[in-house]
Amino acid sequence: MINSPISKIILEGREFLVKRDDLIDPHLAGNKYRKLYTLLNTQKEGLSKIISYGGTQSNAMLAIAAMCKKKDWEFIYYTKTLSSQQIKQNEGNFFHSIELGMKHIEIEEEFYKEFIALLRLNLEEKTFIIDQGGAVEEARIGLEVLAQEIREAKLDVQSLATPSGTGTTALFLALALPEYKVYTTPCVGDVKYLKEQMQALHEIPDNLVILTPERKYHFAKPYPEFLNIYKNLLESGIEFDLLYAPGMWKVLLEQTQEEILYIHSGGVTGNESMLKRYEKKGMISL
Ligand SMILES: *Cc1c(COP(=O)(O)O)cnc(C)c1O
Repeated sequence: MINSPISKIILEGREFLVKRDDLIDPHLAGNKYRKLYTLLNTQKEGLSKIISYGGTQSNAMLAIAAMCKKKDWEFIYYTKTLSSQQIKQNEGNFFHSIELGMKHIEIEEEFYKEFIALLRLNLEEKTFIIDQGGAVEEARIGLEVLAQEIREAKLDVQSLATPSGTGTTALFLALALPEYKVYTTPCVGDVKYLKEQMQALHEIPDNLVILTPERKYHFAKPYPEFLNIYKNLLESGIEFDLLYAPGMWKVLLEQTQEEILYIHSGGVTGNESMLKRYEKKGMISL
């Protein structure tokens, strides 16, 4: 794998650099690629089945499906019961994952938690479970590879930025690059929740700066200001995802001044279905 390239964009008159992890692979890109790095470097014969679980919009699900297709591993994905509308969709991450060969199994809501907890107890040989949000210890190594690429680029910036869900990406990146300031912001839950998630993995280092959004945003809900940032970024030449990136760009524009290298975290395949939701709300016409 060659290093992902770095692009320059102008946004609101400011220059930003972007590490193009979105270009790594159409389905297996962004931070999900980095988090699956060690599994991707596992020999085909080493495993036969991957099990994971979570939501149907998940970028991790799509990345795992693409990996399993490449490796010829079986991929079983558990979700809570879906609506018939979700199942029928012919776009978005769920649809693409099924096309890549993912086997989907629904678990009724009332048994779901217990079922997931029991998964590990009945593990067959050559089977690997990836918890929601990605495999943690494996992720650390993949992010050290990203850190090395950033160092090798010898850029004239001292600050990086990447948005957080579980915070795994931002935390391991900050730990691997103590000489840089790493900005992030919570896109799922609030700052307190993000800190708790991170602290469960490692003590939060001083060079990791969590920016607080000016107001509370609910994850995966359409907001006109997010759509606006998405469109401005697209005009400046790069498509970003609609779930995480707008919140990150918003706080960067409002709360920072220096030149920043933004680590593109992927996820643009989810935009198809998200844009439809913006359309339903009358915020755009497609
Ligand atoms: C998964 C994801 C994130 C969040 O990554 P964490 O390591 O869970 O913080 C951010 N951006 C995109 C596009 C994602 O798919």
